[in-house]
Amino acid sequence: MEQHETILRGLGVSTGIAIGPITVQANDVPTIPETAIGDTKVKKECARLQEALARTRHTLKDLKSKTSGLRANLSSAQSISREINLLLDAHLHMLEPSSRLVRTMQHHIEGDKMNALWAVAQAVETLANQFQAMDDPYLAARAGDVRELGSRVLRSFNGETALSHKYPSGHIILADDFTPADTVLLDPAHVLAIATASGGRESHTAIMARAMNIPAVLGAPDLATQSYPSGTPAILDGSEGIIILNPRPDTLKIYQQKRASAQQQQRQFSQLRDKQAKTTDEQKITLLANIELPRECAHVLDNGAEGVGLLRSEFIYMNRDDLPDENEQYLFYRDIIEKMDKRPVTIRTLDVGGEKLATSMGDMLNEKGENPALGLRAIRFALKFPHIFRVQLAAILRACQHGQGRILLPMISCAQEIIEARSILADVAAELKERGEKINEPLPSIGIMIETPAAALAANNIAHLCDFFSIGTNDLTMYALAIDRGNEEVAHLYTPLNPAVLHLIHLASLAAHKHAIPLVVCGEIAADPFYTALLIGLGAHELSMSPGAVPKVKNRILSINAKGAHDLAQRALKARDDEQINGMMEAFHAKEK
Ligand code: PEP
Ligand code: MG
Repeated sequence: MEQHETILRGLGVSTGIAIGPITVQANDVPTIPETAIGDTKVKKECARLQEALARTRHTLKDLKSKTSGLRANLSSAQSISREINLLLDAHLHMLEPSSRLVRTMQHHIEGDKMNALWAVAQAVETLANQFQAMDDPYLAARAGDVRELGSRVLRSFNGETALSHKYPSGHIILADDFTPADTVLLDPAHVLAIATASGGRESHTAIMARAMNIPAVLGAPDLATQSYPSGTPAILDGSEGIIILNPRPDTLKIYQQKRASAQQQQRQFSQLRDKQAKTTDEQKITLLANIELPRECAHVLDNGAEGVGLLRSEFIYMNRDDLPDENEQYLFYRDIIEKMDKRPVTIRTLDVGGEKLATSMGDMLNEKGENPALGLRAIRFALKFPHIFRVQLAAILRACQHGQGRILLPMISCAQEIIEARSILADVAAELKERGEKINEPLPSIGIMIETPAAALAANNIAHLCDFFSIGTNDLTMYALAIDRGNEEVAHLYTPLNPAVLHLIHLASLAAHKHAIPLVVCGEIAADPFYTALLIGLGAHELSMSPGAVPKVKNRILSINAKGAHDLAQRALKARDDEQINGMMEAFHAKEK
């Protein structure tokens, strides 16, 4: 019987067209027999439990090392990798022999004389229910973690050690949910695309999929309510956010052509490497890269970026129990600065706190409160613990001597934070000189992230304290609209095209131009050519993005007229809502083609 073409819609979070059969991720936890066992079997069931736990621990450690390996290749995925590692650590902790979970499992076997599978399922459910009943929403949400770990242990009774082996090559993977840990395991060379029922545009899974270049559609609710057999032919379009099951021959043809022209475009982009990014009316735009590790520098240069616009330095504080000392940090920054060979390298001082946790901070970061995103993070943390901040500044000052470094302060919300940071920097510089260390004078430029509405609104009041502004549109959008960027329930409202966000960017731009300081945009929208004209029109001099996005943004700039872009931005600032602005941008692009 001929199958009907079915179109499912979700959020297109990672571009690319995939055509191939689907594989539906089964939550294939084995059936759990509930069997009373005699005394003679207790020892055997205990041994089965220990084997399953050992296998799960092995899998978790394997996942950890895969996650760390991934960091070597991907830039924007790194903060997520770290979070996955934290999650995996928490799972490993729960599987320690002395943990409550493991002791309960054992008690069910030895005390209640029940079989091992049932003992695991029962202990997991009890603990998950306890979490679920908690008033604190963060702790209540941990029930999901406990269940995820539980099903991993249960699957390991079947000998399964890693999820990665489950996916056949050349398939589009459909799932209710894809944890960031599942995503890390995907091999971009084998997995065509992923689609899930849950997940927002800026969720960790989405950022990870983009970084791994895997086309993805998340938040497609039909995937949770309907079932489709594995092997069903499908098309996934990661730009449009659609999945087409059983495509008709004419639909298939359209998407085959689309895919071919996308591949052709990719080849053309690679020829732009050494071309200057200039608008048709000769306005030069500097294209920079967002990175976290020295080994990414080759990728930065390969893609023709002119420097590093954002080095997320928090990386060196994560996944470790001790704090990195001055020399370790100095060598780290120096390596990047030297690899970039006199090109600018913007080192953002540590941006920990909120969702970005670092184990090395120990109890210092434990003050989570109800709203971690509004708590002790970034510059607030640095100023509260100046002994940590000073070590980082000393390392940066020493490294800057080897090239062209600049310093970027995150999450600024008032002048006092800049004044205090500058004063600490001057003090550290004096101390280094006293120690006989060589440092550049004048000291490196100091810029601030404009990512709180406060910084944007007061940009004109604080610009004289800064050498440049860098607009972090990810957080600026989140804080301006009061919308969690990772929550799919409100993902439809999260848009940097809300006129409120544009006005904040505009205010920062007016202040930057008035004080003649560079205006950089380093949030995710800087990597999307759809926004390029608007950002140039709003006054951006520099755009910083994941290195792989540089060629397509450069290609876009080459066809933009800066005066036209300025008019577009002026009209957008007067628009009623994001829909109108979106329409204006589409019309602007269509006119240029
Ligand atoms: C931003 O908020 O836009 C930004 C670039 O910083 P991060 O993504 O590291 O929070
Ligand atoms: Mg930010």
